[in-house]
Amino acid sequence: MAYRIIILGGGFAGLTAARRLERLLPPAAARVTLINDVNFMLYTPLLPGAAGGTLEPRHVVVPLREELDATDLRIGTVTGADPATRRVFMRTADGRDEEHVYDQLVVALGSTSRTLPIPGLREHALGFKTIAEAIALRNRVLQTLEHAESAPSDEERHALLTYVMVGGGYAGLEGIAELQDFAADVIDKYPRCRLHGVRCILVEAKDRVMQEVAPDLSAFAQDELRRRGMEFRLNTTVERVSADSIELSTGEVVPTRTVVWTTGVMPHPVVAQLGLPLTESGRIEADRYCQVAGHPNVWAIGDAAAVPDPAHPERPSPPTAQHSVRQAKIVARNVANAMGRGHKRPFRYRTLGVFVDMGRHQAVADTLGIKWRGFPAWFLARTYHLSQMPGAGRRARLVTDWTVGLLFGRDASELGQLGHPPELATGLEEQSAGGTPADAAT
Ligand SMILES: Cc1cc2nc3c(=O)[nH]c(=O)nc-3n(C[C@H](O)[C@H](O)[C@H](O)COP(=O)(O)OP(=O)(O)OC[C@H]3O[C@@H](n4cnc5c(N)ncnc54)[C@H](O)[C@@H]3O)c2cc1C
Repeated sequence: MAYRIIILGGGFAGLTAARRLERLLPPAAARVTLINDVNFMLYTPLLPGAAGGTLEPRHVVVPLREELDATDLRIGTVTGADPATRRVFMRTADGRDEEHVYDQLVVALGSTSRTLPIPGLREHALGFKTIAEAIALRNRVLQTLEHAESAPSDEERHALLTYVMVGGGYAGLEGIAELQDFAADVIDKYPRCRLHGVRCILVEAKDRVMQEVAPDLSAFAQDELRRRGMEFRLNTTVERVSADSIELSTGEVVPTRTVVWTTGVMPHPVVAQLGLPLTESGRIEADRYCQVAGHPNVWAIGDAAAVPDPAHPERPSPPTAQHSVRQAKIVARNVANAMGRGHKRPFRYRTLGVFVDMGRHQAVADTLGIKWRGFPAWFLARTYHLSQMPGAGRRARLVTDWTVGLLFGRDASELGQLGHPPELATGLEEQSAGGTPADAAT
């Protein structure tokens, strides 16, 4: 009987592992099943572009079925696992509970936004990790502009046009830069808002933004954004969030209707239901072969796993797409090795580069120790992401979006109703009480 390999999660790590296994194993040797809750992979580095309206949301995702040839794709939510009996449990998209038996299991369930017990945070802040959140943010900006245009007082207009991003990592910085750019691009169509202008504030707990890059690059990024009118609150944390304000540790209360939370990630809660050893931070304990401690046929990769970082072996690898993809390639080889093919390899990858795109043709980058800033860094960042996006069709879509945005500006329609159609023919029953529905319709 063919080997049963199950991959949990179809993001950067899970999709790469499945594609590699398709290449490494002859079709009859193994049956590879990938379980994911949606039928696409989100290319997160381009999420700020989708939130800022430079990229069409469908163009920053990769349909899994387009990329997988021989893998059996199951859409549903993983609910748990029992390593003793080698079973995983899932609920299918149409609500059925299923269990699947494996010979080799690869866990690649990624991460979710890490929130803190701050009063009002869960109720009033938006996350910035999923495509739904990015589109909600774009819609929020357009809604606040529409409301501000007819707001009865300047005070209310001011709160509506103030946007606060919490977290100065690359996601936060790229997110607020795109958001500010987007608002600046469309505000001309709102005469009252244009007179008022928008206010963007970035709140960061540490003394500088973007700890991922060298201090001079982070200073360059900060200066560039300051020049555009962005305000920074460094060494500052959040005390409270409400529907119309955010309170900071400095005592400052900022009136706003939009708070975005991007301060770090944690593994998906289901990771704790898999019966696997976890580190203090909740990631799955894995060794440098990506093998889970005490479970020779279970592997963990990506944000959900604590695979030692080859650059600092005492620490887990950072939660980045570049580490996830390289771990996936290693795990595919090691799973094949467990089936008697090829050699077992350790994870050796060291960060090659970091890009932070600030829009308006400006970015900072650090590639193999070479520092880039301004237009060359921006060009490098776009070229890199273009090269990493799977499929020529997907790459062509990105280039088209970027070019159209450059020539014609961004679209200001707020399509929050998409996917929520109104109920069909409300009130038909009452109308037709005295006759047939057909009578009522004529
Ligand atoms: C805005 C933003 C920008 C970023 N930019 C960069 C960048 O420029 N460079 C970089 O290297 N990294 C970047 N990252 C980090 C990068 O996105 C992650 O490190 C990467 O996605 C991790 O890959 P993964 O496969 O472990 O997880 P993911 O890509 O998140 O994939 C996990 C998959 O598992 C699925 N899943 C989760 N729970 C379940 C469940 N219970 N059942 C079924 N399926 C489930 C998810 O839907 C998802 O498809 C960015 C992140 C964000 C949020």
